[in-house]
Amino acid sequence: MHVMKALVKARPERGLWMEEVPVPEPGINDVIIKVKKSAICGTDLHIYLWDEWAAKTIKTPMTIGHEYMGYVEAVGKGVITIKPGDRVTGEGHLACGRCRNCRRGKKHVCENTVGIGVNIDGSFAEYVKVPAENVILLDDRIPDDWAAIMDPFGNATHTALSFPLIGEDVLITGAGLIGSMAVAIAKFAGARYVVASDLSDFRLGIAEKMGATRVVNPSRGEKISDVVKDLGMRGFDIGLEMSGSPKAFNEMIGNMYNGSSISLLGILPSDFKVPWSDIIFKAITMKGIYGREMWETWYKMEQMIIGGINLDPVITHHFPVNEFQKGFDIMESGNCGKVILNW
Ligand code: NAD
Ligand code: ZN
Repeated sequence: MHVMKALVKARPERGLWMEEVPVPEPGINDVIIKVKKSAICGTDLHIYLWDEWAAKTIKTPMTIGHEYMGYVEAVGKGVITIKPGDRVTGEGHLACGRCRNCRRGKKHVCENTVGIGVNIDGSFAEYVKVPAENVILLDDRIPDDWAAIMDPFGNATHTALSFPLIGEDVLITGAGLIGSMAVAIAKFAGARYVVASDLSDFRLGIAEKMGATRVVNPSRGEKISDVVKDLGMRGFDIGLEMSGSPKAFNEMIGNMYNGSSISLLGILPSDFKVPWSDIIFKAITMKGIYGREMWETWYKMEQMIIGGINLDPVITHHFPVNEFQKGFDIMESGNCGKVILNW
């Protein structure tokens, strides 16, 4: 049996362990990818820390990770469009292809979605097995580091481009790993003002580099409403909620213009007091966002990168994979953007 190195959630407790596991064999429609770069997602941090969500969701032992890029090593007998040597990344949500949503071309809301590195073995490994349909061929103009973060860039793209942005004023609550990319996307897509809030000055610094018009840190007593006044606005046209914080959500609702629209990416707790009457009387349209649109989001990402969007400011740390612990430590501190592990 061939074995490989992998970062395994071996036990139901805090931590992650580098172990030897079997190299995956391709099924008839599968692709085996030799991973070159991995990125650490907030989800991986939850699994590392073993919080309530992780304990409920993850079955140990499992190789985790779902943000990566690499080269095709082998393909199953049924795979015709992808060949060994191709430079690729992958969509981490595997859709069933059979449910009503899949059959009407809405695979991103498949009833039976399976997540790589969450429900099945992931990409924090020398090799990862992915169905051919989920493999994304990379244009030569997409740098390796950016290719490794196309999964969260896709969350940002799907959220930000859910409503037209040309000439609009955009509020992004939570300028974290995804929110800071949404800043650049909103600017790229023609927004007028893009205001980002976060509790971390480090992250707001990244948001500024990504093109934010103004940044707001509520933990220092700064108010979004003051920025609205300063910029001479009546309220925001578009809100992108990317913090998962009820406080941020309430501040957003308070600063939206009548008839505005909000995309919700951040995972809000289900039991907080939602200001429904403000939402109704301001006639706000709200849309929940899950993952990336298959495959429209991927085409949009490719074109934004080719068109000159800059993702460099969001990537702050690189480590060799053997030093993965340093990567998780810095992620836990929050004083980072995207952390990349090189295999
Ligand atoms: P992240 O932790 O990097 O970013 C969240 C940011 O919100 C942090 O920087 C934090 O400081 C900030 N924040 C917390 N409270 C705040 C407040 N009151 N005001 C302003 N900012 C505040 O996480 P991420 O990886 O960027 O993901 C963003 C959110 O999206 C998370 O809630 C994550 O769970 C969720 N998510 C959802 C999907 C989906 O498919 N719906 C996919 C990926 C991530
Ligand atoms: Zn389906």
